[in-house]
Amino acid sequence: MLNDRNTIAAISTAQGQGGIGIVRLSGKDALKIAKKICSGTITPRHVGFHNFKDEAQEVLDQGIVLYFVSPHSFTGEDVIEFQGHGGQVVLESILNLCIKYGAKLAEPGEFTKRAYLNNKIDLAQAESVIDVINATTLQAVKSATYSLSGKFSNKINNLLEKIISLRVYVEACIDFPEEEIDFLEQGKVIEKLHKIIAEIDAILAVARQSELLKNGINLVLIGQPNAGKSTLLNSLAGKDKAIVTEIPGTTRDLITSQISIKGIPINVIDTAGLRETENEVEQLGIKKTWEAIQTSQVALLLVDITKGSDDYEELIINKLPQDIKKFRIFNKIDLVTREASIENKNNETIIYLSAKSEDGIDLLKNMLIEKISDNLQQDSDQSLIVARSRHIYALNKVRQAVTNALINKKSSELLAEELTQAQNELSTITGDFTNDDLLGKIFSSFCIGK
Ligand code: GDP
Repeated sequence: MLNDRNTIAAISTAQGQGGIGIVRLSGKDALKIAKKICSGTITPRHVGFHNFKDEAQEVLDQGIVLYFVSPHSFTGEDVIEFQGHGGQVVLESILNLCIKYGAKLAEPGEFTKRAYLNNKIDLAQAESVIDVINATTLQAVKSATYSLSGKFSNKINNLLEKIISLRVYVEACIDFPEEEIDFLEQGKVIEKLHKIIAEIDAILAVARQSELLKNGINLVLIGQPNAGKSTLLNSLAGKDKAIVTEIPGTTRDLITSQISIKGIPINVIDTAGLRETENEVEQLGIKKTWEAIQTSQVALLLVDITKGSDDYEELIINKLPQDIKKFRIFNKIDLVTREASIENKNNETIIYLSAKSEDGIDLLKNMLIEKISDNLQQDSDQSLIVARSRHIYALNKVRQAVTNALINKKSSELLAEELTQAQNELSTITGDFTNDDLLGKIFSSFCIGK
């Protein structure tokens, strides 16, 4: 498959002006095209300084050319990189020359897609390439790099091995029915199925938390109008995002602001005040607030300390979902001359602060991280995987299939069918397992003559 496709070309550095800009070529004609543009000899894996010439042989730019010979390149194909000056006109001219000399304009992600199709990386790794690029926090970068290095894929592949080996065993029992009587017992099938489920659960737990890290922890700001929610959001966000006003019930729409505390992205959702009201627009805002609460991991209930907590706040606290981290913030301490402080009571963290003077904001930030981190156990090597919704969806399906296998354990046919289902679902994550591979496995691990 390597080098069978058209040669593709693209500007690989970001739009705009920069010190250096890169045009990349990948495919069987990469060297041929590069030779038409460059002066001098292009040596594989050597840095060469060249003139880049246009069709009239006039020098367009000067720069470095790198040549990676198939299969030892990112895409697995012959790859050429022109590193010229980072001006848009220069780079576009080089790109146009590549296209004139036979290259095709690369589609978005096509270099990475080719790397996957040429088995340089699997699907999960291909996805993490874009995650590294899109990462908005240092933690997200580290997590994506962890996946790109193949560690997440290794976890999936280890699990896959176990499912396949069990399936191979069960299928052999179908082929040799006289041995079926105690096949469950002999192959420790039930025990192995339970172990597989436990392993799926462990991966799912890390996958879910990594999804959280990628998309951000949702933190909902609730409380009665004028408690200071918009002001707190602004001091947490460090920039003016919400309209702060003294008219109760102004914040009717949900305003989300993404902040990052110690590398963890947090989506702060400012909500409509929660109070009894006849106003239809306000009622709609309150409905939205309760919806936001359902999808949040942390709730901050703001109370104006000059007014104190009332029954209504108790009602709100009691109505919050069980597993949400609850913070009750007594705001406006500057008006009652009270020190910023923190208390832990039952399932609640109570903080006294001033959103306006920002006294106690750091206390809140530190406590938030501490509470959020309770849910974020680090992987053994202190890194986290990056999982996408599609991985979690597939893992849930795998879990369902293995659970069904357990239910249907008495029938080796049904058991094998469920394990096939589990295997196929799991393979969608890395995208690299075919039926031919399975046949190879069956024949290599079982001696037919026996
Ligand atoms: P929301 O309706 O809960 O979003 O409340 P706002 O953030 O709009 O605040 C309502 C009013 O209280 C505004 O006048 C704010 O300036 C004021 N406010 C908010 N936080 C504090 C604080 O910590 N101290 C003082 N003195 N005023 C505050």
